[in-house]
Amino acid sequence: MPDSERSTLWYPYAQMRGLEEPLEVVAAKGSTLTLADGRMLVDAIASWWCVIHGYNHPELSAVVHAQIDAFAHVMLGGLTHAPAKRLADKLVEIAPDGLAHVFFADSGSVGMEVAMKMALQFHRNRGVAGRTRFLSLVGAYHGDTSGVMSLGDPIDGMHHLFRGYLPAQLFVRPPLRSAGPSLDEAVRELRSALQAHHACLAAMVLEPVMQGAGGFRVYEPDYLREVRVLCDRYDVPLIFDEVATGFGRTGKLFAAEHAQVSPDIMVLGKGLTAGYFGMSATLASERIYDAFLGEGPDTAFMHGPTFMGHATAAVVALKSIEVFRRDRYLDRIAGIEAQLRRDLLPLEAPGIVATRVFGAVGVVEVDSPARYAGLQRFAVDRGVWLRPFGRVVYTAPPYVITSDELGRVIGTLAEWFRR
Ligand SMILES: *Cc1c(COP(=O)(O)O)cnc(C)c1O
Repeated sequence: MPDSERSTLWYPYAQMRGLEEPLEVVAAKGSTLTLADGRMLVDAIASWWCVIHGYNHPELSAVVHAQIDAFAHVMLGGLTHAPAKRLADKLVEIAPDGLAHVFFADSGSVGMEVAMKMALQFHRNRGVAGRTRFLSLVGAYHGDTSGVMSLGDPIDGMHHLFRGYLPAQLFVRPPLRSAGPSLDEAVRELRSALQAHHACLAAMVLEPVMQGAGGFRVYEPDYLREVRVLCDRYDVPLIFDEVATGFGRTGKLFAAEHAQVSPDIMVLGKGLTAGYFGMSATLASERIYDAFLGEGPDTAFMHGPTFMGHATAAVVALKSIEVFRRDRYLDRIAGIEAQLRRDLLPLEAPGIVATRVFGAVGVVEVDSPARYAGLQRFAVDRGVWLRPFGRVVYTAPPYVITSDELGRVIGTLAEWFRR
């Protein structure tokens, strides 16, 4: 495509020179994308795994239309509205115990920035100085804005280009099921990091149980219990980034439930609005929140995005949560997991180094990214939309995907490796 570098539209994570024109979608329904040339694709990755109900869900679309006819959005500075208030109530009701207050923003990255600022100001408001660094996990991904870039994997993360500009955070290794330290080793590593550095730590940050964009790696849930105990011992607040894992992706409503552990701060995004709008929610415990109470603005939380608590996004989120429960999505997710375990987990071929299934996520990891050169087009030719990255190809489909559609996704991968 000779003209790609003159495109007005600048695409993500893409070299614009020589970029093949992305496939143009003109309609989408359920798990199916319809392209401008009439071809139809099963979306195996749910638009970066946020379209949990599939596209154009009739009930979700209906509440959007109704809210827009009332008002699309009204700011939360000095004004309020029922959609934001009701969604805050609902999130507190369904979240892990102890999370009692909700701060809305407009994307997962910004929700994580909010969490970082909350932790930093929490210490300051209590008169504790010097707690300005964060402890994160090797292999982490927490978003693309500046603050959270510093929390991403320091070596393999996509943000190493900005190293000189970003604050240097501390990292420990999680006990990965695939290849990592044992649980005991990982806990020892964490304990010594906390021992040495707790006085300068604002918080510990992690994606509970499954690291998403860092490679869809799963670690022992027991680790979270140990993390909770050690963070309490050293008075280090614990932040869970459930932007990827929230809303059922790992087989529980929230991944924290695999370990029955509550964080001090939790961030939701992606599936929150089922892909309809950008929105995130940063939930805080009473203890965090109470540190911001006082007599004047000095201890108030200094953040306020223009689109905070967007009314139309909030009504979709509420309807999404209602449908998720009513239509027994956790059972559907268990069905997706069973099919992936049966048909994707046993895949074996030269180059495959690991297959993983966790909730509604299936992963095939190979020894070199070259193994996946040409896979995207191969899949499109078979009516499937996949996006390999690095040595990983994954499916994280809409939860409404049928077993036939999922069978087509898995069959396409199997065929790729057979060929
Ligand atoms: C996607 C993601 C983010 C960033 O969310 P955006 O909405 O893309 O800003 C943060 N954390 C995790 C775990 C994610 O998967």
